[in-house]
Amino acid sequence: ELLPGSDAALRARARQVIPGGLWGHLNAAKLPEGYPQFFAEAEGCRLRDVDGRETIDFMCSWGPIVLGHKHAVVEAAARAQAERGDTMNGPAPVLVELAELMVQMIPHADWILLGKNGTDATTACVTIARAATGRRKILVARGSYHGAVPWCSPSVAGVTAEDRAHLIQFDYNDTDSLDRAVAEAGADFAGIIVTAFRHDFARDQELATADFARHARQVCDTTGAALILDDVRAGFRIDLAGSWEPLGVRPDLSAYSKAIANGHPLAAMAGGERFREAATQVYTTGSFWCGAVPMAAALATLQELKRIDGPERMRAMGQRLRDGLAILARRHNLAVNQTGPAQMPLMTFVGDVDWKMGDAFCSEALRHGAYFHPRHNMFLSCAHGEADIDAALVAAEAGFAAVKRSIG
Ligand code: PMP
Repeated sequence: ELLPGSDAALRARARQVIPGGLWGHLNAAKLPEGYPQFFAEAEGCRLRDVDGRETIDFMCSWGPIVLGHKHAVVEAAARAQAERGDTMNGPAPVLVELAELMVQMIPHADWILLGKNGTDATTACVTIARAATGRRKILVARGSYHGAVPWCSPSVAGVTAEDRAHLIQFDYNDTDSLDRAVAEAGADFAGIIVTAFRHDFARDQELATADFARHARQVCDTTGAALILDDVRAGFRIDLAGSWEPLGVRPDLSAYSKAIANGHPLAAMAGGERFREAATQVYTTGSFWCGAVPMAAALATLQELKRIDGPERMRAMGQRLRDGLAILARRHNLAVNQTGPAQMPLMTFVGDVDWKMGDAFCSEALRHGAYFHPRHNMFLSCAHGEADIDAALVAAEAGFAAVKRSIG
């Protein structure tokens, strides 16, 4: 007999009425043993699952939570807009304010369009690149994730060859392979879509090299193709001006979502003057795309991130976590790789081919109050303070001890 309302009871009911128990990336069946599926509450950097267990959150809803769960300023702005109206026959004034702020924050942007999900933004950018150039071929890095529709889904179920007929793959950070893809595209080269850094699932992360980013910019400049930065995952955590700004490379089009509205549903496509006409012609819309509440939340989120220098705060706390993990790993004589930007860290165990060590680490850390992920990049938020990181490191210590026990 399962306790009504418990995680186990909810999962059993969900299995009856939801295929696979849950769609997509948040399905707990893909997580280490002991991870909850259902949550009761969240505040700041703390989660409480339906079984009453509290954990320090290092996934931040897989990106959207950038200031912390239920952030007072963002929620006040969202509530104030909700009292006036949300989904109406047209947008509220906040659309213009948000668009002006983004055009001011993001140097390559002269205009923005809004949507709901990251996939809306990446797909619209690809469509705009094709409309602007009159060409078809899109260059995509092997293994990169750009969304959950047939042109880019990691699953091939229900996908036809025609859906992907005009994609050409290259290897991330490999300029020779990019050149080969450009040559293959020839006169039909419409654009390159590339993530801010290499954050493929179940693989150590790799920062984009300046050489690679510059090369991508250059091949687009010489051919007239569009450089599309998929900043859905990294956007507003690395640099508020765009994640390739520190590399000195500006894209033609960029796709945002996740962190833009601290958990409220919103995506944005940003682009330069050259693509304005195509962005006007392409039919991008949806029933909820002019909802005003997420826009008000986004305006408040971006202003707050700017005010407190959110990216630097997350970097500092991510580095504190990373330094602490390195010390603990050494103390337990365990070799780990820590990769990616500190704001979006990943720690894997060297030689952990079947993920047993990573899973053992995470399951035990969870029991001690830290919600980590063994093979997807994690996310810091501005709600993580030094005491939270230090508490998470205590949980990590238990995780390392469990790994040590599991390998004998
Ligand atoms: N691009 C990247 C780089 C992403 O990380 C994601 C989401 N994980 C997407 C696109 C798709 O975003 P969404 O899930 O909001 O459609």
